[in-house]
Parts: sequence; structure tokens; C-alpha cells
Amino acid sequence: MKRAVLGALMCSLGACAAPGITLLSQNRIGLERIGSSTARIGYVFATENNTGIRLRGSVRRSPPLRGPIPGHIDLNVISPDGAPVEQKVVDYRIRNLHSREAHFSTVITTYLPPGTILRLRHHAGPHG
Ligand SMILES: [Zn+2]
Repeated sequence: MKRAVLGALMCSLGACAAPGITLLSQNRIGLERIGSSTARIGYVFATENNTGIRLRGSVRRSPPLRGPIPGHIDLNVISPDGAPVEQKVVDYRIRNLHSREAHFSTVITTYLPPGTILRLRHHAGPHG
């Protein structure tokens, strides 16, 4: 009961703060999706919890064929003044061979000040 009342109060202030609110819709964090010739980034959700920011999203083959999608995602965290903060490789998984899209999930534990940009780039090839 208490929780419901608190939720209602938050909503009345104009920012309806449901648990796991998306940071992207608040414009606290920017997002760039960069596709490759074989795949593009689909939906992306960013939610904040006590361990950090969880980023979830999808990767779709382009053209939209079924089956495994080669490659991975290169995630770059870019500070509000344009400096690279963090880079990591994010792997995704396809649910089954008939699926047209793969899903990924990763947690960013670095503090991200407002204005930070998360750049997600599909990278079809390996590193090095
Ligand atoms: Zn890469």
C-alpha cells in the first residue's frame, strides 16, 4: 500500500517514476545506434538499479533473414564533453534458428552523468 501511494505522489510531480524507469526517455542519456551491412540495432532499453545501468536491446539482420547473426556489438560510453569513457564488447544471442532477431543485455557500473552518450555499433567481424 505504501508503495502505491509513493508511486502516485511521484507521478503527480510530472515524472512517473516506475521501478526501472528508462533513462533514455528522460533524455538523461543519449543513444546512438550504428548498424552494419549485415545487421542493425533494434530496440534499446536502459534501466537503472542499485548495481548500475542495465542495457537491453535487440539486433536484427538486415535484410531480415532468419538464423544466427554474425558479429557482436561494440559499446562505447562517451562523456558529455565527447571523451571516450569506456568501451566494451557485448555479445548477443539468438533465441532459436527461426528467429529474426538476437537479444543482448549488459550492465554498466560506471557512473554516467547526464548528457552521456551510449554508442552501440554492430560489428560483423572479429577483433584484432
Ligand atoms: Zn567489435
